[in-house]
Amino acid sequence: RRGRVEVISGPMFAGKTEELLRRVRRARIAGRRVEVVHHALDDRRGEGLVSSHSGLDIPSRAATSAAEILELVDPAVELVAVDEAQFFGPALLDVVQHAADAGLVMIVAGLDVTFDGRPFEPIPALGALAERADRLTAVCTVCGEDAPFHERVVASADGDSLTPGVEHVGGVESYQARCRVHFEAARWRA
Ligand code: ADP
Ligand code: MG
Repeated sequence: RRGRVEVISGPMFAGKTEELLRRVRRARIAGRRVEVVHHALDDRRGEGLVSSHSGLDIPSRAATSAAEILELVDPAVELVAVDEAQFFGPALLDVVQHAADAGLVMIVAGLDVTFDGRPFEPIPALGALAERADRLTAVCTVCGEDAPFHERVVASADGDSLTPGVEHVGGVESYQARCRVHFEAARWRA
């Protein structure tokens, strides 16, 4: 069998998980044996699930390290889909390459940018070694333009959004997609 690597990257809310689930669904229609994997630390929206902000979800298996991804995979599996892949850290790069060399189709979705606008490895490096890499954008929450970034905002108790980067004791942090013009963290770029 011929393996390959497909990377789906971008900021939060870009539709990475939706696109991953679309490709998984198509592979299953094609009769491929598919395994969906997420990191064990990523149980924010329910255990044993990969889920998108739009509410779509699909059962998946938890791995605690990059090496464990392949231990979870039955020999009959042809395609492995990994979501929130940035959780696996630098070890993911070699694991994915070896798996594809051995004949697996590896579809990897993850964040490639931090909330302060820096490349977030290993996803950018993985994209450089892939047959296919798609970088998706979200929708800017301020103006509706394409948003290649996301930033952290801290809401105060009365619901006001404070300036990103400002620590606010007791505030609830969340993230918003932002275009280049409305990406406040760009102001702190060196
Ligand atoms: P990702 O995995 O990249 O974080 P998801 O696939 O989980 O993205 O979610 C994408 C969905 O999020 C969109 O289809 C839309 O329903 C919803 N969404 C909410 N806020 C935004 C936004 N600012 N830009 C784009 N999509 C958004
Ligand atoms: Mg996602």
